Amino acid sequence: PIRVRFAPSPTGPLHIGGVRTALFNYLFAKKNGGTFFLRIEDTDQNRFVPGAEQYIMEALEWLGISPDETIGKNEKFGPYRQSERKELYKQYADQLINSGWAYYAFDTPESLDAYRKAEEEQGKTFIYNHTNREKLDTSLVISAEETAQRIDNGEHYVIRFKTPVDEILHLKDIIRGHVKFETNLLDDKVLFKSDGMPTYHLANIVDDHLMQTTHVIRGEEWLPSMPLHVLLYHAFGWAAPEFAHLPLILKPVGNGKLSKRDGDKLGFPVFPLEWKTEEGISSGYRENGFFPEAVVNFLALLGWNDGTEQELFSLEELVEKFDLNRVHKAGAKFDPEKNKWFNHQYLIKQKNEDLAKAFAPILKEKGVSTTLEVITKIVSLIKERANFVSEFWDLSNFFFVAPTAYDEKSKKNWKEETPALMQELISVLEEITDFTSVNIETIVKDWLTKNEIGMGKVMQPFRLSLVGALKGPHLFDIVEIIGKDETISRIQKAIE
Ligand code: GLU
Repeated sequence: PIRVRFAPSPTGPLHIGGVRTALFNYLFAKKNGGTFFLRIEDTDQNRFVPGAEQYIMEALEWLGISPDETIGKNEKFGPYRQSERKELYKQYADQLINSGWAYYAFDTPESLDAYRKAEEEQGKTFIYNHTNREKLDTSLVISAEETAQRIDNGEHYVIRFKTPVDEILHLKDIIRGHVKFETNLLDDKVLFKSDGMPTYHLANIVDDHLMQTTHVIRGEEWLPSMPLHVLLYHAFGWAAPEFAHLPLILKPVGNGKLSKRDGDKLGFPVFPLEWKTEEGISSGYRENGFFPEAVVNFLALLGWNDGTEQELFSLEELVEKFDLNRVHKAGAKFDPEKNKWFNHQYLIKQKNEDLAKAFAPILKEKGVSTTLEVITKIVSLIKERANFVSEFWDLSNFFFVAPTAYDEKSKKNWKEETPALMQELISVLEEITDFTSVNIETIVKDWLTKNEIGMGKVMQPFRLSLVGALKGPHLFDIVEIIGKDETISRIQKAIE
């Protein structure tokens, strides 16, 4: 059975790229009747940020892509927090020492610095691997007795992977196809530190094995780690999972990876939820009024499509259609404007009453009191023009308050004869008993035709009187909603 994981390090809020990784894992699992689990990789205690773990879980929940197994949920292969698995990793590091796949290294930060400088002076870059192994302070050079002695004495050490020399690795990535690595170019990565903590590489491989991960789906930035990871599986004698490295998410303009700075500069969030620190608030898609379905939809299309022109997909549809083989290698451009369009598509699909409920608190704040029925009606008239509920007020305030100013440009429609015509219009309106949109429209238009008055002569000043500008939905719908008295009073005010 297929088992995939999302394995973030809780070093801060989840970036939108991380959310895309989680989503693709989720879709792949669901598509194949597999399991999607969440593992928290918190072995690097220097980078641990309180609240980040909670944030990650909340974000996935908001998007509707919660894991099947994680901390506190179906802990079949738990614990799902690496810091709680701490005791487990040492034996695996030892196993690699015993089989000759790893060694102890005692180099101090100072001595490593000195090597680095010395190499730099010769115009080279220091790399901790087979080219230097003779010089370095490791158990490959000193005797087993001395090694044991120094460890006993409490000297600081790390355990490093002994990368094989002169090998070419031909590996397969589901998205990239064949990828080739030369082991001579790899460094001997640290697997375990004397503080008793494994590094990311060791913990990740041990846990993916123990948790029976079948596919590793993660961001492209981990591609350079793939050869080490495959070598580690080999060193342990375990079958390696399949790998799929997802393409980068690129800046909306220019080149390179999407960063938080791009968001700040162009005014869009790069986080699913708001994140608050002492330095300030980073805005989130949720707080910006995005529907989770819209976020899922635009993220799904960052690097994937179903081969047709279709752009709108529900989560169920994505599950049905998702295919890792259709994920592109090339980076995917992030398009904040298009993301608003996606939100618009989901907004117009909402029930008017639900939108009205979301709009009601805004109206209350503006001091408007009205019924949900009226709000629902108004929402139905304006939602086509909105991307977000937060735009409703600007699109509809004239329903609730009379204009206090009239758009300057539109005033050129206000001619010398206009006040008299508006006065006549008032008389026509006063006579109407069934004050509903279609009926009002019929009566007003009849009056215009009978008296051979041009439409524009009346309709534009009429709209200007009610709305304050030549915008808004169908005029007679506005008239019906604001009612006879208010309509007449607004026209009177405009004439004055
Ligand atoms: N902890 C790593 C991260 O923060 C996991 C990478 C992987 O999926 O192997 O992204």
